[in-house]
Amino acid sequence: MKVKIDRMQCVSCGSCWDTCPALFVQNADDSFSQIVPEYQDNNDLSASIDLPDSIGCTRDAADLCPSAIITIEE
Ligand code: SF4
Repeated sequence: MKVKIDRMQCVSCGSCWDTCPALFVQNADDSFSQIVPEYQDNNDLSASIDLPDSIGCTRDAADLCPSAIITIEE
């Protein structure tokens, strides 16, 4: 499973990093959500590598995003 965030549409509500801090964190410069460094695909703030199943909160974070900008690729 890979995850993408349409960061420019993020409203910095905090839901994703509260729901799934293993994968999401607030960017210190622009305040938008980003993928945590450990799981970034080639240092892309908005895209993850293929994630381990142990990160079970990913789908919840995507479902709860009020802007619906977190997408999951199986
Ligand atoms: S839940 Fe969505 S809108 Fe809220 S901070 Fe995360 S990506 Fe941004």
